[in-house]
Amino acid sequence: MPTFDYAPAPESRAIVDIRSSYGLFINGEFVEGASNETRKTVNPATEEVLAEVVEAGEADVDAAVRAARRAYEKIWRPMPGASRAKYLYRIARLIQERSRELAVLESIDNGKPIRESRDVDIPLVAAHFFYYAGWADKLEHAGFGRRPNSQPGGSQPQPIGVAGQVIPWNFPLLMLAWKIAPALAAGNTVVLKPAETTPLTALAFAEICQQADLPPGVVNIVTGAGETGRLVVSHPDVDKVAFTGSTEVGRAIAKSVAGTHKRVTLELGGKAANIIFEDAPIDQAVEGIVNGIFFNQGHVCCAGSRLLVQESIVDHVLDRLKRRMATLRVGDPLDKNTDVGAINSAAQLERIRELSAVGEAEGADRWSPPCELPARGFWFVPTLFTGVSQAHRIAREEIFGPVLSVLTFRTPAEAVEKANNTPYGLSAGIWTEKGSRILAIADQLRAGVVWANTFNKFDPSSPFGGYKESGYGREGGRHGLEAYLAH
Ligand code: NDP
Repeated sequence: MPTFDYAPAPESRAIVDIRSSYGLFINGEFVEGASNETRKTVNPATEEVLAEVVEAGEADVDAAVRAARRAYEKIWRPMPGASRAKYLYRIARLIQERSRELAVLESIDNGKPIRESRDVDIPLVAAHFFYYAGWADKLEHAGFGRRPNSQPGGSQPQPIGVAGQVIPWNFPLLMLAWKIAPALAAGNTVVLKPAETTPLTALAFAEICQQADLPPGVVNIVTGAGETGRLVVSHPDVDKVAFTGSTEVGRAIAKSVAGTHKRVTLELGGKAANIIFEDAPIDQAVEGIVNGIFFNQGHVCCAGSRLLVQESIVDHVLDRLKRRMATLRVGDPLDKNTDVGAINSAAQLERIRELSAVGEAEGADRWSPPCELPARGFWFVPTLFTGVSQAHRIAREEIFGPVLSVLTFRTPAEAVEKANNTPYGLSAGIWTEKGSRILAIADQLRAGVVWANTFNKFDPSSPFGGYKESGYGREGGRHGLEAYLAH
C-alpha cells in the first residue's frame, strides 16, 4: 500500500484548443470530406466527446494520393536534400515549441498519463524529426540504394514515391513521426491515416506542417476507420505501404499488395519475454517489469507481457512485484502523479476483460492490488497471472493491456526455449549481472530488439522491428531509411 496519499496535481488543459470538428488535410489545406460522413473521438478517461472528424472515403483518399503524387514529382523529389532537411528541422523545433500542448492533447485523446506523453512520446517525436533531418542530405552515406556497378558515393539513392501509411492508437504522434520523418527525409511524400480513436495529434501535426510552410501535398492526413486505411494501402498510385497495428490487419494488407509494385513494411504484434535470472539486481528488475508491462497501460507492441522468472527466486520477485504494483496510481491521465491511465477504447477494454477471463477459466491465478477506479471512462486495474502454462491463451496472445503472465524456468536453455515459443518476435528483456550471459542469451533470442537490464527504451538512431508474425522491415536508425529508398 502507498505510504502516503498524493494530492491531485492536474496539468491544465487550457493550453489545448480542440475544435468541434476537423476536416481532412489534403494539399496543405483542411478540406471538407467528399463523403459527408463523420465520426466522433472521445476522451477515454471521461467518455466526453472531444471532436468530430471526417470519415474519408474513396474520393478523399484519391484526392490525397493525387496531391502527394504532384508534390512528389514537382517539388519534393527534385528538392536538394539540404532543403528538405530545413523543413524537417523546422517541424522538429515547432514540435518542441508546442510540446506541452501536444502532450496534453495526446493524453486527452489517448488516455495515457501526462507523465508519459510529456516525458516520452513528445520528446521522442521531436527527436525523430531532428534525427532524420540530419540524414536528408547524406543519403548516399546510408548504404542503401546505390545502383549496381556504381562507384562508392557516385550515385544518389532515390526515393520510392508516394507512401501510404496507417498507424495505431497506442502512440499516435510517435507512430506518425516514425512513419513521416524517414519518408520525407528520403524524398517521398505521404498520405497518412491515424487510428479512428486518436486522430487529434495527427491533425495538430497538420497545422504544424502549415506553420513550417511545408510545400502543399508533401504530407496529407486522412482520418477515418479501417475502411479508410484499406483505401489508402490499396490505392494503385501508392508506391510504398507502411503499417503498424495488429497482425491480423497486417496479414490482410500483405495479401492485398501481393503481386503489385508496392513495397511494404509491417510492424505488428508481440508477446515479449522479460527474463529474470537469479543473479539479477531484483529491485531494478522489478522496476523493469513494471515499466515493461504497465507503461502506456500495456498498449505497447513490444510490452514485456510474459515474465519468465528463474524458479529459485520466483517467490521473492513476486513478493516485491506485488508490493510495487500496489503503489501504482491509476486514474486521471492529466494528473502528473498518475502511473496508469485510461484504456484507449471501450472495444479494447472489452478485449482485455475477455482475455483475462479466459486466463482464469484456463486455470491461471489472477491477482490485482486493491484499487479504486473512476466511475466513468475505460479502466483496467494492473493485473498479474501466476500459474500460467505456455499453452494458456494469456501466454500466447497479445492482450495489449496492463496484464502480466508469469512463467518460470530452471536453466538458461529453458528460458531461451520458452522465450522463443511464440508466433511473435518483436522484443525481449534479459536481467542478469553477467555480461557474458546477456550476450549469449541475446544471441539465441528470435526478437528484433533485446533489452538488457532495462526495458522499453527507445531512441531514433536505433532500428526497431520484428521477426516471424511481428512483421518485417525496420523503423528507426539508418535501417529505417532503407524502407523509403529505392534499390
Ligand atoms: P488494427 O490493426 O485494426 O489498427 C491499426 C490501424 O489500422 C488503425 O489505423 C486501423 O484503423 C487501421 N486498419 C484497420 N483495418 C484496416 C484494413 N483492413 N486496412 C488498412 N488499415 C486498417 O488494431 P485495433 O485498433 O483494431 O486493435 C486490435 C488489436 O490489435 C489490439 O487489441 C492489439 O492486440 C493489436 N494492436 C497491436 C498494435 C501494435 O502496435 N502491435 C497496435 C494496435 C493494435 P481503425 O483505427 O479505424 O481501426
